[in-house]
Amino acid sequence: MAKLVLVNSGRDYEYGVHEPLHLLVLAAYAKKHGHQVAIADQIAGEDIFKKIKKLNPDYVGITGTTAVINEAYEISDWCRKNGFKTILGGVHVSVMPEEGLEHADYVVKGEGEEALIKILKGTKERIVTGNPITDLDKLPKINRDLINTKYYQKGKDRNPGTHLHFVPPNTKLNSVLFTRGCPFNCIFCHNSWRGLKVRFHSAKRMIEELKELETKYGTEAVFFMDDDLLCHKQRIVEFCELFIKEKLKIFWGCQARVSMVNKDLLQLLKKANCKQITFGLEAGSQRILSMLKNDTTTIEQNKKAIKMVKDSGILACGSFMIGSPGETEDEIMQTKKFIIENDLDGFGATVTTPFPGTKLWEMCKEKKILPPKINWKNFNLNQLTFGLTEISQERMENIKKNL
Ligand code: SF4
Repeated sequence: MAKLVLVNSGRDYEYGVHEPLHLLVLAAYAKKHGHQVAIADQIAGEDIFKKIKKLNPDYVGITGTTAVINEAYEISDWCRKNGFKTILGGVHVSVMPEEGLEHADYVVKGEGEEALIKILKGTKERIVTGNPITDLDKLPKINRDLINTKYYQKGKDRNPGTHLHFVPPNTKLNSVLFTRGCPFNCIFCHNSWRGLKVRFHSAKRMIEELKELETKYGTEAVFFMDDDLLCHKQRIVEFCELFIKEKLKIFWGCQARVSMVNKDLLQLLKKANCKQITFGLEAGSQRILSMLKNDTTTIEQNKKAIKMVKDSGILACGSFMIGSPGETEDEIMQTKKFIIENDLDGFGATVTTPFPGTKLWEMCKEKKILPPKINWKNFNLNQLTFGLTEISQERMENIKKNL
C-alpha cells in the first residue's frame, strides 16, 4: 500500500469555483486498490506544502491546466527537493510528456486511473499511458469528504461574475461530472486531439450522486461540468424522469450543443429543475463559427436554440471566443451584435487560445507562428497568445471589456 497526496495546482487561479472532480475520481480508484489518499487543493487556498509535509506521502500526484502548469512544475520541483516522488498528470502533460518529465519522476499520458495504479505498484516506465475507462459506472463513487466541500459550495458568492447565472446568492452549489469526452471536434478544444469514444455514467448513478449531495451536504444547486450533458438523448430523458420520480429538489445548469435541444426535451428538462443551459456559441460571424466548429453549426441554428430555451423558461447563456485566426474587428462586432439581438440571459467571452494538442495548435505549428519559448501563463483565455489575428493585445482587451 502506498501513501498518496493528490494536488490541484494553481495559486492565483481566478476560476476556482469548482471541486477537483477528476482528483476525487482518482482518489476513489486508488483507495479501491488499497492505497491511502488525501487531496490538497491550491486553487481552494490550501497550504499544500504544509499539508504534504505533514502527511509525508510516498508519492505526490499533481495536475494542472496549461495556464497553471508552471505552478504544477514548481510544486513538483519542491516535492522532489524534499524527498517526495512525484507524478504529473492532466491534459497539458499528456500532450507534452517530455516537458513534464523535466519536473517529475513520472508523467501520466491520457486518463489517469490505470496509469496511477501501475506507478504505485512500482513500474519502471517514467511516461505511463493510461487506457481510457470504458464503463464509467464501474468506477467507485467519489468521496467529497476528502475536500472542503463547504468552500466550493460558496464558489458563486466568491466569484459573482461567473457564468453561473442561475444561482442566487447564498446558495449551496456543487459541481458534478458524468461524461467523458464529446463526439464533436472543434479546433480549439482538447476533445479534438483525444479522439476518445464518449462515455457516460448511467442516469441511475447520476441520481444517486445528486441524492447524496442533497441529503449529506445540503446542496441546493449543481452545475454539470459535462461538455455536453444532452448529447446522449436516452440518458438525459431517463435522468429527468428519475429526477422527477425521486422528487429531488436540487436545481441545476448545464452545457450543451445547440443541435441537442428541442421543445419536448426542454419541457422535460424544465420539469426536472433545469434552470440554465449554456451553449458554446463562439461567434456572430458564420465564417469564424464554421472555422472553429468544423462547419457543424450555423448562426441560424444558434439563434433558434436560444429562442427555444428562452421560450421554455430556462435561462439561455452563451460562451464566445474572440481573436480567432484572421478575425477582424468587424467580425468581432458581429459577435457583439449577435449577443445583443438574441437577448441572452448571460454570456462570457474568452480569447481564442491554441492549447497544445488541439487542431488550432497544429495550425499554428504549420504556419510556423509558435515562438521558440512559450510562457504557459499567457494561456489563460484572457490574452492573445501569438499572431492569430492582427488586432493588438491592447485593442483586444478594450474590445473584450466592451462586448
Ligand atoms: S468545444 Fe464543445 S462541442 Fe466542441 S469538441 Fe469541445 S466539448 Fe465538444
